[in-house]
Amino acid sequence: MLTPFDRELLAWYDRSAADLPWRGTRDPYRVWLSEIMLQQTQVETVKPYYADFLTAYPTVGALAAAPLDDVLKRWEGLGYYSRARNLHRAAQQVAQALDGEFPSEIDDLLKLPGIGRYTAGALASIAFDRRAPVLDGNVIRVLARLLDLPDDVTQAATQTALWDHAERLLPDERAGDYNQALMDLGRMICKPRKPLCSDCPLQARCQAYANGTQAERPVKKAKAPTPHYDVAAGMIWDDAGRLLIAQRPLDGLLGGLWEFPGGKQEPNEALEDCLRRELREELAIEVEVGELFARVRHAFTHFKITLHAFTCRHISGEPHRIGVRDWAWVTPDQLEQYSFGKADRQVIASLRDRDNLLL
Ligand code: SF4
Repeated sequence: MLTPFDRELLAWYDRSAADLPWRGTRDPYRVWLSEIMLQQTQVETVKPYYADFLTAYPTVGALAAAPLDDVLKRWEGLGYYSRARNLHRAAQQVAQALDGEFPSEIDDLLKLPGIGRYTAGALASIAFDRRAPVLDGNVIRVLARLLDLPDDVTQAATQTALWDHAERLLPDERAGDYNQALMDLGRMICKPRKPLCSDCPLQARCQAYANGTQAERPVKKAKAPTPHYDVAAGMIWDDAGRLLIAQRPLDGLLGGLWEFPGGKQEPNEALEDCLRRELREELAIEVEVGELFARVRHAFTHFKITLHAFTCRHISGEPHRIGVRDWAWVTPDQLEQYSFGKADRQVIASLRDRDNLLL
C-alpha cells in the first residue's frame, strides 16, 4: 500500500520525470547498460555512448560476441574503464551461462561482474519490479536531508543505516518508479548546493527543511588532499616513422587501454632516467630520450598526474611483453584504431596539431 509520502513522490515523478533515453524500458539489457554507464558519470555524457552501444550491440549476445578491444574503443572517453571490462565479462556470462536472460533476483545479479548492491537494486526494481532499494549519491543526499541525519555518510556504519532506511521507506508497488523518482529528485531538485526546496514535493516531510539544516546535510568528513604523481612517457619513433605503443595489463587502472609507454617517477629521479628505466623494465628496450614533446595534466578519482611525453628514438631491443599486455609499431594515422585514455589522447592531439603546422 502506498503511504502519503509515496503518493506525493510518485505523483511528482509522473509529472516531472526526466525524459531520458533509457526511461520507459523494462528491457534488463538496456536498464543494466544505462546503470553501468551512469556510475560516476553525468547523464548528458552518457546519452551518446548509450545510443552508440545499442546500435553496435543491440542485444546482450551481440555485446558478448564483440572483441574486448572493440568494446574498449567504444567506451573511450567515458572513463572508469573497469566498467567496460566488467560489462563485457558480465555479457558473456549472461549470454553463455544464462541463455541470454538476466537473473531477476538480487543475489543472482550480484554474482555478475561489475554489479554491486546499487546496480542490482536498480536492475531488479526497474526491470523486474522487485522491491529492492537503491542508494547512490543522489539518494544518499535526499535521505540524509529528509531524515536530517547528523552522521558522516562516508562512514560504513552510516551507509548500512542508510540502506536500512532506503529499504524501510520503499513501497510494495512501483518500486522501480519510486527509486527513479528519488534519483531524479536528488539530481533535479535536492541539489548538492542550493536545493530547490520551494519546488520539492517532499518539503512538508523534510526534517532538514524544518530545521533549516539543508546546507549542512549530508555530513561528509573533509577529504584528504589528492596525491599528485609525475609520469614520463615516450613517443618512441623507429627509422620507418612509426611509433611504439603499448597495451596496459587488463587488471588495474586503464586496463586494456593503449598508451605511450612509460611510468611513474621515483623520488629524486630525473624524468628522462625514469623513462629509460620504465622502458627497460616493461619492454626491455633502449631509447635515446630527446626533447619534451607535450605536458598534460589529468585527474583520476583518487589522484592527479602530470604526464610528460618525450620524443624518443628507438636504439635497441625487440619489445617484450614484460609489464605490458601487448605492443605495436604504428604510423600516426593508425593511432585512431586503438583505444587510449584521456591524457594520451591529448598527447595525440598535440601530435596532430604539430603535423598540421608542418604541412
Ligand atoms: Fe531536499 Fe529541500 Fe526537498 Fe528537503 S525540502 S528533500 S532539502 S529539496
